[in-house]
Amino acid sequence: MTEDWAEERDKAVLNTIYYCETCNIIVEPGDVDISIHKRELPHHKMRRVMILRCGKCGNVVTDSYAEYSPERNQFWCKNCISETGVDGFHTS
Ligand SMILES: [Zn+2]
Ligand SMILES: [Zn+2]
Repeated sequence: MTEDWAEERDKAVLNTIYYCETCNIIVEPGDVDISIHKRELPHHKMRRVMILRCGKCGNVVTDSYAEYSPERNQFWCKNCISETGVDGFHTS
């Protein structure tokens, strides 16, 4: 794995946000809720969520709705993966 590879992949990541499963809210980095959670609510279940751009259709999706193909060096949304098929997705 080269640095270029990681850089290319990071370009597809538009933003990183946090999701608190306990409060059921989305928290953006820099939001005051982040420091409240760190300070007072460390028992809450926080999850990091990446906002990605699909390399095929260009739609913006979260990482739970997308997968990464090392063969293509791209994230694709699940729509595109099911249209192309998983084998096609993992073929460059
Ligand atoms: Zn919370
Ligand atoms: Zn797509």
